[in-house]
Amino acid sequence: MQEAVEKGLINKKYRKNMIKVALFYPSIYSVAMSSLIFHKLYFLINELDDIYLERFFMPSLSGKPVSMRSYENGMPLKDFDYIIIPVHYELDYVNIIKALIGSNIEVISSKRSKPKIIIGGPTITANPEPMADVADVEIIGDLEAVWEKIIDIFYNERIEPSYGLYIPSLGKHEVRAAYSNNFNSSTRRILTKETIFTLGVEVMRGCPFNCVFCMESYISKPTRYRKIEEIVSEIEELNRKYNEKVSLIGLTINSHPKFKIILKEAKDKNLKISLPSLRAELLDNEVIELLSTLGQQTLTIAPENSERVRYALGKEISDENIINTARLASKYNLNLKLYFITSIPGEKEEDLQNIANLTRSIKMAGIKKIHLSVNPLIIKPRTPLQWLPMEDENKMRTKINYIKKNSYYEDFTSYDPFLAIVQGSIALSDRDVIKYLIEISINGNSKVYWRSLIKKGLSNIALKERKEPFPWDHIKGFIDNKFLWDKFLLFRERIGLGYSLH
Ligand code: SF4
Repeated sequence: MQEAVEKGLINKKYRKNMIKVALFYPSIYSVAMSSLIFHKLYFLINELDDIYLERFFMPSLSGKPVSMRSYENGMPLKDFDYIIIPVHYELDYVNIIKALIGSNIEVISSKRSKPKIIIGGPTITANPEPMADVADVEIIGDLEAVWEKIIDIFYNERIEPSYGLYIPSLGKHEVRAAYSNNFNSSTRRILTKETIFTLGVEVMRGCPFNCVFCMESYISKPTRYRKIEEIVSEIEELNRKYNEKVSLIGLTINSHPKFKIILKEAKDKNLKISLPSLRAELLDNEVIELLSTLGQQTLTIAPENSERVRYALGKEISDENIINTARLASKYNLNLKLYFITSIPGEKEEDLQNIANLTRSIKMAGIKKIHLSVNPLIIKPRTPLQWLPMEDENKMRTKINYIKKNSYYEDFTSYDPFLAIVQGSIALSDRDVIKYLIEISINGNSKVYWRSLIKKGLSNIALKERKEPFPWDHIKGFIDNKFLWDKFLLFRERIGLGYSLH
């Protein structure tokens, strides 16, 4: 039942015969309410006549299946006609299954008549197969491009494959990913203090760069930038309406051709904004000064390892460029958050040593506080690395510990190598991974149990080389495997990988 203080809710009363839709984010409240698409769906669905909506969140991320009750009025999940689920993280698939089992809802769609389950999000777009036995409909691509068809499903129960909609019960069939150029959002948001991020405003979709590990950039092409007038007026309106800071959202927002103008407008109009990770080589003195004037205290960049590895990954940024960025950040008293990826195929000890050296140079450039975030590479579908095995857990751990011991920082965080292996295993799997997902859901989402599943073969897919056809090949409308293979060959050449896959 509702606990947080929220503003901006829609007050719609349930009337007999209304279609009941559950909006379920498979994570806890603070994560769900930080998701822009969750807010968007809440308002889009609520504006439909004769449709009644309530929200569902996981009460916690650990433990066994849980009987789900709506946040608004404590209604059981089972009583809804449709469950619509935006998901961004493969491990949250387990939460979906736990919620279904705990609510006495049949997990497998072919054995279930109600509720109908619609799932979408970037991980589903890249590879819908891990959740194919659970979902009645999977959204492939942008929600806006298929929204009219989702409405048709709600009103007419018309569930059939089309552009952007995959109906897995029909078996693997060809579907094209749907893209929208019209992703303007309104300024409707539910305001709550318990979010991880502040109110979001989308600046762009996709990314003009093609870093070889980055699934998000490969499933969201072409890159689309919103008009500056729309971005600025949305920030203005949100600042005015909620008196809260606004987070700019996008994969590389400083690649927006008018990024500086957005910052200047924000400065002139005294807007309150915060920014995500920025592409380092696009930062100059003027941008960093503007960021500091706007009250940004930390600059976030992703230098990724050594120059050699960085070039191979697709980030043609020199160490000198990064150190210069650090000097500029220091000039304006900004702290630095640095993301590094490790366990990259072909990586050598000297590359890890470079991370340590680079952090020392950054410290010497005068940065007061460095937050170092070191994360093992998770191989994802639809990327040029999709043929390669992930490194094993022990090597990942050793490398992270090496970097932790030898680098300069004030704060250090890293993603758990074990979870990285599990996440990669799910992301790269075919439909049959569902047996593991159901098993872990029934037995509680514990590390001990994940380990037993790894022993049973869950991680085979992630830790070995892969060959085509891939489980996701029937979903079209993306950059094809031929292009990705050419990029892979280039990566292999640049990183000096000495073995052949085929
Ligand atoms: S710059 Fe960032 S968002 Fe763009 S492709 Fe590279 S990692 Fe992905």
